[in-house]
Amino acid sequence: MTTEIRDRLDRTQKATREAGIDALLVSPGADLRYITGYEALPLERLTCLMLPAEGDPVLVVPALEKPAALASPVGALDIDVVAWGETDDPYALTASLLPTGTSTVGVDNHMWAEKVLALAAAVPKARQVLAGQVLRELRMRKTSAEVSALRAAGATIDAVHDSMKEWLRPGRSERDVGRDIADAIIAAGHARVDFVIVASGPNGASPHHDLSDRVIAAGDPVVVDIGGTMPTGYCSDSTRTYAAGNEPPQAFRDYYAVLLEAQQAQCSYARPGVSAESVDAVGRDIITAAGYGDAFVHRTGHGIGLETHEEPYIVAGNPLRLEEGMAFSIEPGIYLPGRHGARIEDIVVVTPEAVERLNRTSRELAMLDG
Ligand code: ZN
Ligand code: ZN
Repeated sequence: MTTEIRDRLDRTQKATREAGIDALLVSPGADLRYITGYEALPLERLTCLMLPAEGDPVLVVPALEKPAALASPVGALDIDVVAWGETDDPYALTASLLPTGTSTVGVDNHMWAEKVLALAAAVPKARQVLAGQVLRELRMRKTSAEVSALRAAGATIDAVHDSMKEWLRPGRSERDVGRDIADAIIAAGHARVDFVIVASGPNGASPHHDLSDRVIAAGDPVVVDIGGTMPTGYCSDSTRTYAAGNEPPQAFRDYYAVLLEAQQAQCSYARPGVSAESVDAVGRDIITAAGYGDAFVHRTGHGIGLETHEEPYIVAGNPLRLEEGMAFSIEPGIYLPGRHGARIEDIVVVTPEAVERLNRTSRELAMLDG
């Protein structure tokens, strides 16, 4: 892993140079973990990587976080760790470490506003830009080590879907089922649970419903969208729609067949060279032709890696051409307010000729008996 991280550090530095940015300033979050392997706590006290376009990076940390920083992959990299004490000014310290004559700094896209403003005040001559313009290009194209980590995450969440019949049945509430699923997400090997959506009956028409006390009834369609973060930092995310009991409404069965066809068509179509927006259109056209266009209320998908939602976004208006190594969800949905809904979601990674699905559990409508 250290070789992988060192390589990312080098590539980030090179890209920073090419973007004409003098230094990146990166606070705790996925960008910091991507560049250094350090999963730092997002605290009010400043932790900040100063990565200059040329020269050695420095990690500024609160003194009490120094042991944790050194125990992370940072300890094995050529990164100076500079600790600040409780009465020091960490912003002045960070400013003093910047290359002389710094006129442009890239701050990470998710840095807290109070830190962005304090850094601006500490380095008044430097223009702040988003580090995302550099990091998105790198993080969007997964290395083989990252693809392996995502593949493992996919297999881990698949193991949870494979056991759904143990928990999901008529007579139980969404919340009770969700609690069991959350336990299973951890037991399967995730380090943490990121979300558990169990949307039964009419709740299935709300794409981001989470859990409620609604008791699942026989015949309810149930949308189950679950994900977690693995110990590697890479995320899982997969949706399957189940039928609790044997007889979901015929209207539901009709559009589920359309949805399945659309999701399959999108997975078959996606490959290097096609645009993100065209992947969306391939599924949307099928759903629209069947009369459900207005019921597909969200984009087709999102990139995934160290964050569940990151670039590339598979959405109308995004002309980005897919490349080998890009990883994202293909998750069309059909939602009928007041009645029910359905979504099918797989994470895919672009291969030299096609995409590999990282979620492999059956997409056919599964009838779970009580
Ligand atoms: Zn998703
Ligand atoms: Zn999802």
